[in-house]
Amino acid sequence: MATTTEHITCLIIGSGPAGYTAAIYAARADLKPVLYTGLTPGGQLTETTEVDNFPGYPKGITGPVLMDDLKAQAERFGTQVRFGLITKADLKSTPKRFWVDETIEITADTVIISTGASAKWIGLENENRLRLNAGGVSACAVCDGFFFKGQDVAIVGAGDTAAEEATYLSKLCKKVYMIVRRGEMRASKAMQHRVKNTANIEILWDSETKDILGKETVEGAVVTNNKSGEERTLTVSGFFVAIGHKPNTDIFKGQLDMDDLGYLHIQPGSTKTNIDGVFAVGDCADKTYRQAVTAAGSGCMGALDAERYLSAVGAH
Ligand code: NDP
Repeated sequence: MATTTEHITCLIIGSGPAGYTAAIYAARADLKPVLYTGLTPGGQLTETTEVDNFPGYPKGITGPVLMDDLKAQAERFGTQVRFGLITKADLKSTPKRFWVDETIEITADTVIISTGASAKWIGLENENRLRLNAGGVSACAVCDGFFFKGQDVAIVGAGDTAAEEATYLSKLCKKVYMIVRRGEMRASKAMQHRVKNTANIEILWDSETKDILGKETVEGAVVTNNKSGEERTLTVSGFFVAIGHKPNTDIFKGQLDMDDLGYLHIQPGSTKTNIDGVFAVGDCADKTYRQAVTAAGSGCMGALDAERYLSAVGAH
């Protein structure tokens, strides 16, 4: 039950690069943004180590430090950053209503949704351990492929992401094993064609990963053929998982237009959703690029759209 009600001009939900960049712009425009971090302050980047592809860091930076810097920059201009999860939203009322951790009710004139997406994982114990210890298990080839230059790696998945990432890795790595759980791929024909015609990609059909080997870093993967039962140990130093992402948009179902995976629909060239004053930025509305820098760019767009909306309705 709600215990407090507070009115906010500009609410930002989520604390990845999109949310913090929106906050920097919104705060500088004097929208007095309040940002709720969600349960993983800093978002997906806090689970990676080196980030070498965010412009402005010629020597690279770690994900957690980058996110701390973005947070500090947002706070420098007056953003209130609060730990908490928005658990319910009523976007159709005026002002819009939200509940934090089921208990605190807030209202807002405008909201920028930057709740991100979460990579799906196979669910193996060693996968989780080596991922969290930055031991060579990753869900982003573009982010981490570089660390495996000239080495052998494996990638799981058979959708467009897996096909695209396998192709990307094949240009950097000596050999790429692509582990496909069925006898066919879900990826588009063009992407499949590319994968099948790349000499250093070996596709393991009807195959599932039984275990990932290695104490500190990945040393191999045990793969079973689910038709023949045959087991094979791959010697690899990187293990990529590309079995899909889940956008964190469940609380907006039934209110915001989204595709069947849950990615929010935005109007082309803007961050506008189907509800006035509700803007979506970053990975929750982007299944194609999913990069920190593109998320940050769309966060900026969201804040500019929110500012224009507030001016138009006379709330700012
Ligand atoms: P998808 O959901 O399309 O594909 C996921 C793949 O992972 C499937 O092949 C699935 O196998 C496999 N998979 C799922 N769970 C497991 C598991 N536990 N073990 C092994 N394999 C598993 O996700 P994507 O990220 O590839 O794509 C998401 C959306 O984004 C799609 O609509 C795609 O078209 C789009 N996209 C478009 C791009 C482009 O146009 N350039 C680039 C990237 C993505 P199975 O097939 O057996 O279910």
